[in-house]
Amino acid sequence: MWEAEAGVTVPPGCVIHHVDWVKTHNVIENLVCVTVAEHERIHNTPGGKEFGEKLKKERGLSCPPGLV
Ligand SMILES: [Zn+2]
Repeated sequence: MWEAEAGVTVPPGCVIHHVDWVKTHNVIENLVCVTVAEHERIHNTPGGKEFGEKLKKERGLSCPPGLV
């Protein structure tokens, strides 16, 4: 899904996160490629949802720098 739509491969150590936390909301605008550590932070720390939104804004459809 992600790979077909964004035309990128999810690198090892990365996951696709749903920016609005709705796992069935599979539109490209709602998906961002994050590292496993970033994903932990998004879901397990206060303000994590906003952090995910910030990553989406900065990163767009790209995967985390330094991993690909
Ligand atoms: Zn997630």
